[in-house]
Amino acid sequence: MNYYVEPARQIPVMLQTEVLVVGGGPSGIAAAIAAARQGIPTTLIERYGCYGGMMTTAGVESIAWWRHESTVEANGLAREIEETARKMGATAPEPQSLSQAINAEKFKLVADVMLEQAGVQRVLHITAVDVIKEQNKITGVITESKSGRQAILAQVIIDCTGDADIAAFAGAPFHKRSKEDLMCVTTVFSCSNVNKNRFMTHIKETQPKYGDWGADEENKNWSYDIHDSCKAMFSPYLGKVFAKGKSAGMIPANVTLGGSWSTVTDYGDANYLNVVSIPAVDCTDVLDLTRAEIDGRKQAMQAIEVLKKYLPGFENAELKNFGMTVGTRESRHIIGRCRITGDDICHQGRHADSIGVFPEFIDGNGRLQLPLKPHYFQIPYGSLVPQNVENLLVCGRAIDADDFAYATIRNMGCCIVTGEGAGVAAAVALQSATGVSQVNIHDVQARLEASGVKVF
Ligand SMILES: Cc1cc2nc3c(=O)[nH]c(=O)nc-3n(C[C@H](O)[C@H](O)[C@H](O)COP(=O)(O)OP(=O)(O)OC[C@H]3O[C@@H](n4cnc5c(N)ncnc54)[C@H](O)[C@@H]3O)c2cc1C
Repeated sequence: MNYYVEPARQIPVMLQTEVLVVGGGPSGIAAAIAAARQGIPTTLIERYGCYGGMMTTAGVESIAWWRHESTVEANGLAREIEETARKMGATAPEPQSLSQAINAEKFKLVADVMLEQAGVQRVLHITAVDVIKEQNKITGVITESKSGRQAILAQVIIDCTGDADIAAFAGAPFHKRSKEDLMCVTTVFSCSNVNKNRFMTHIKETQPKYGDWGADEENKNWSYDIHDSCKAMFSPYLGKVFAKGKSAGMIPANVTLGGSWSTVTDYGDANYLNVVSIPAVDCTDVLDLTRAEIDGRKQAMQAIEVLKKYLPGFENAELKNFGMTVGTRESRHIIGRCRITGDDICHQGRHADSIGVFPEFIDGNGRLQLPLKPHYFQIPYGSLVPQNVENLLVCGRAIDADDFAYATIRNMGCCIVTGEGAGVAAAVALQSATGVSQVNIHDVQARLEASGVKVF
């Protein structure tokens, strides 16, 4: 690679804040609201024109599709966000669980309202591209936007970029699996002009189940290990239809389509069609992202042709929209003070520095297990604390977790728990004049419990 040496230059300080949250996905929204509710001046910056992260920018609707009668979860902001969205008319019942599916478009408004009510200062269309560091302390970030290159100074920074961008810029250690092992990326799309009655009749007649996942030999790119407890349960899975398309030569040999639908409206919109999987994409590599966007759109159109031909109710379906960005699932995970492991997920891990809980739910790396028992693990604060950098916490899908545990902690509900914990911890640190890595965890836990979070 050739290099160009960028000359040093003076840039304006756009603003100063106490807590700066970078990235407005589920974890970032939660972190910003939690810090602001503790009375701390908080700013949330986001590279796109809306908050919501994968929910609004990729179109991922199902915030808690794993919830059943016995499921134990943290509640707190995770439930509040879902419930506020319901009250604002931005949800519909999710078809396989006791949860609400989020309307990706309307959620943009829900996030605006919740952040405004919490008093969070918001800046959209701005990307953090570097950090300002004094020895091992981060004191701000460098941003790029239509306003040019500017600095934002802060006392605590919470990295909610999903890709641990800030931690990486700051030189904190992280791990990232090889490209071939990373979870696939997906172009989520929605269709209009679907005949809901015909489609739902077909679903009632065929009753797809979790046990069907990856079962069609004609159209298979990995095998699923489905836990016996959920094999016979209903799943909004679309597999057979793509097996037919594959046999008919409508899907290229190197492409595998298959996945799920979510909500279908009375006016004929089928939302959050999650059936495209593009492997070997490093979503911190702009050329990989470019290939994924282009291939993803092409595959989504191939999927629509198959749905029109073989899926009752979709005969006259048309593309309504692609997610405004390809949906990315996995990239960097920090190496923190504590790693969440597969053992934590499967054997109800307990941690003295817990900031909240998440159910024993596994969805990824070819494995599915629903939380049908009241089993849960505790999320250690140490998994948010990066090494070698002060004033920084990392939340959401970039916390420290092994490959197995990652399939669980990447869920939006879990990301929100980490965000809420980080927001409160930042406030405690600032109010007690300590660093976030030495914060009084008992104080953090007490404040979280007072906000309705199940911490232990
Ligand atoms: C197709 C697909 C289906 C999924 N299905 C489910 C599901 O059914 N249920 C579930 O719970 N989870 C699901 N997930 C996973 C879940 O959506 C993510 O793991 C979760 O959204 C991660 O939240 P986050 O806050 O860590 O990051 P993100 O949601 O990725 O949000 C990060 C935000 O930071 C912004 N950002 C990034 N870099 C910068 C920067 N340098 N400067 C400024 N802003 C920046 C981004 O624009 C984005 O808004 C799915 C994911 C995909 C892709």
